[in-house]
Amino acid sequence: MTIRHRLIILITTLLLPLIINAQYKIPEYSPTIEDLSDSLEFFMPIEGRLVYNDSLARIYPAYELYHYSWTPLRVNPYHVSIDSMPDSVYIDCRDFVYPVKSNLVTSDYGWRWSRYHHGTDIGLNVGDTIRAMFAGRVRVVDFERRGYGHYVVIRYNNGLETVMAHMSRVLVNIDQDVKAGQIIGLGGNTGHSTGPHLHLELRFLGNSFNPIKMIDFEKKSCLSDKDGFYIITKSNTYKHKEELKNINTQASYHRVRAGETLSHIARRYHTTVRKLCQLNHIKESKLLQIGQKIRYR
Ligand SMILES: [Zn+2]
Repeated sequence: MTIRHRLIILITTLLLPLIINAQYKIPEYSPTIEDLSDSLEFFMPIEGRLVYNDSLARIYPAYELYHYSWTPLRVNPYHVSIDSMPDSVYIDCRDFVYPVKSNLVTSDYGWRWSRYHHGTDIGLNVGDTIRAMFAGRVRVVDFERRGYGHYVVIRYNNGLETVMAHMSRVLVNIDQDVKAGQIIGLGGNTGHSTGPHLHLELRFLGNSFNPIKMIDFEKKSCLSDKDGFYIITKSNTYKHKEELKNINTQASYHRVRAGETLSHIARRYHTTVRKLCQLNHIKESKLLQIGQKIRYR
């Protein structure tokens, strides 16, 4: 072996850990709004109320509130704990539109069998129009064969987000601005669904809450005060926060789709390939099978 060869081997050996490290240490932005909730500088008093005020909202709705996070990859990419949320926030519901024709609630929010149901189900006919509840922008349009089916996540200008799922057709695109009441899709029975319905989730900073806290389904109206504001509070809206903490510590699985690798799955769930390998007792070189369940939490 020549000196040159030895040198190349030596340099490669020295650099390899750095290269591997660089691969797994992709700087990941983990937002926390603790500083925001402390100073409340983004919750400006308007007519004697603390209302969320967003100077960058023209870029994306509620951009500052969501710590400059805007991604089409996940329903909840924010990792904001309920404890770190502001105690109460006024949500401007003056442009509220009830999203469907039907007001028949077929399944409620909360524990259902052994899974947590993050939304309210509303029975409908396939093809019924589904509307944006406020003005905002479409963040996610995706399809989950065993989950949401065709679904849409909209970030509204007032800081709320909705997930609307099991549609037969989606009529909007990612990053599209929508008006309150604009048709965004048609009702359906796609994904994990046993009959045509709209699965409706209300989320604030990624954390779901029971839609009946804010919507009177029977009257198809918003339970806002006389001025059109709904107050999200930790003590009432998130009374169920201990329940949510429990589900977050439970094991969760991803079912492998065609073309997916461990790094795809790691990125999707904000984890690392190394952690996935540990959880699943597999090697990084493992070839994944379509339909295989990979634990990511
Ligand atoms: Zn549902």
